[in-house]
Amino acid sequence: MYDPNNIFARILRKEIPCSPVYEDDYVLAFRDIAPKAPAHILVIPKGAYLDISDFGARASAAEIEGFFRAVAKISADHNLTQQGFRAIANSGLHGGQEVPHFHLHLLG
Ligand code: 5GP
Repeated sequence: MYDPNNIFARILRKEIPCSPVYEDDYVLAFRDIAPKAPAHILVIPKGAYLDISDFGARASAAEIEGFFRAVAKISADHNLTQQGFRAIANSGLHGGQEVPHFHLHLLG
C-alpha cells in the first residue's frame, strides 16, 4: 500500500525542501541528501508508485516514456552519459529500499 506521507511524496508536495536539478510534468529530480558518489541524483515520478515493479505495472505509457526521457536528459545534462554512471532502483525489503516511492539513483 502506497504511503502518501513518505518523504518523497512530501518533497513532491513542496512540504520538504530539496535541491532540484530537473522538473517536468512527469518527474522531479533532485540531489540525494547523503551522496554516495560525486554526482548522486534521484529521479522520481510524480505519480504515486511504490517501486519499479509497481511503476512498470500501473503507470501509463506517457508516464513511463516521460520518466525515461527525463533520465536521458538529466544524465546528458550532468555529463553522466558521456562519462558513464550507474542507475539503481532498490525495491522492497530485500532490495534495501528505504523510501517507498519509486526512485532511480543516478550515480556518477
Ligand atoms: P533507497 O534506499 O530507498 O533506494 O534510497 C533512498 C535515498 O533517499 C537514500 O540515498 C537517502 O540518502 C535519500 N534520502 C532520504 N531522505 C531524503 C531527503 O529528505 N532528501 C533527499 N534529497 N534525499 C533523501
